[in-house]
Amino acid sequence: MGKIYLSPPDMTEVERQLLLGAFDANWVAPVGPDLTAFECEFAKRQGIGNAVGLSSGTAGLHLALLLSGVKAGDLVVVPTFTFAASANAVRYCGAEPIFVDSEPDTWNADPDLVAEALERASSSGRRVGAVMTVDLYGQCADHGPIREACDQHGVPLIEDAAEAVGSTWEGRAAGSFGDIGVFSFNGNKVMTTGGGGMLVSDDAEVVERARHLATQAREPTLHYEHRDLGFNYRLSNPLAAIGRGQVQRLSSMLARRAEIRAAYEDALAPLPGVGFNPIDARGVPNHWLTVLVLGDDAAVDSAGLIATLDAVDAEARPAWKPMHLQPLYADATVLGGSVSADAFARGVCLPSGSSMSDLDLQRVIGAATDALSK
Ligand SMILES: *Cc1c(COP(=O)(O)O)cnc(C)c1O
Repeated sequence: MGKIYLSPPDMTEVERQLLLGAFDANWVAPVGPDLTAFECEFAKRQGIGNAVGLSSGTAGLHLALLLSGVKAGDLVVVPTFTFAASANAVRYCGAEPIFVDSEPDTWNADPDLVAEALERASSSGRRVGAVMTVDLYGQCADHGPIREACDQHGVPLIEDAAEAVGSTWEGRAAGSFGDIGVFSFNGNKVMTTGGGGMLVSDDAEVVERARHLATQAREPTLHYEHRDLGFNYRLSNPLAAIGRGQVQRLSSMLARRAEIRAAYEDALAPLPGVGFNPIDARGVPNHWLTVLVLGDDAAVDSAGLIATLDAVDAEARPAWKPMHLQPLYADATVLGGSVSADAFARGVCLPSGSSMSDLDLQRVIGAATDALSK
């Protein structure tokens, strides 16, 4: 009976063969045919014009902010309910995040608060360098009204789609809503390269700029010539080879995550005080993580449920702790905050990996049912 992780890598013979192919061809380098192919295949699968493979999603967010013209002293609007990397990338640029709370129906950035943040900044004379949205737990944010607010203020939109590979909203793919979109292939995401990311945009020039900055900003000369401050942010070829296999298998991995979500709902939703992370009918999420939400009448609290699952060797964790509650961002401005704070207090992320067997799924459901029925 092995440990059940929250969202472990889902690897098969497909990925193994591609990785060995890269190794045997000696393309164990930061460039190579698998990287180029991965970028093309990923862009095609996502229905986005251009993509550049990077060493992480965080690197992608940093580049996205720089390419959007974010400068030191700027403000950047960021949802408070996210992983720290979204906000940290803003600080890498010397800019400051201004946090907005979630809307209850999606847990994503409340469009009214995004508009309010932009109004406030402009009336106080502060420059807003960008608005960043996050497609939390794999559900796309409601980008229509957010885009409107951005256009009204002439502010670029960056979509942190790190958790949302394969998700859609009103038929449109995650990552395509921002001027720039960013994905993560960290080991715990829906698809992984063991660490990596992708920056995407329909603007080919922006992606070429990203590629340049990510490759130490070397000018196309024989000697080493540099005009821009570059970074070593590229994905390496053997990792891209794994990514090619993950793209091939993405549809089946998504189907499994949806099955797992449905199984949790079927088994646990009838129990007192049990709800789940809200899903809006306008989108089709990738169900990266199923988050159980404990109401006041639930038989156990978040810490109790996590301890019960730990006792059967299943990993569960609280929902993201909002940025406005983090010591690191204690000084930052936040608009609202109670929706995400409540979700943090009540939310428990359940094991949701696409490689989880039915037997393991039953082990989690069994333990959770016991804890929630008492
Ligand atoms: C995982 C994640 C990131 C960071 O991606 P890495 O590839 O781990 O650097 C950024 N934002 C969100 C919302 C994430 O979940």
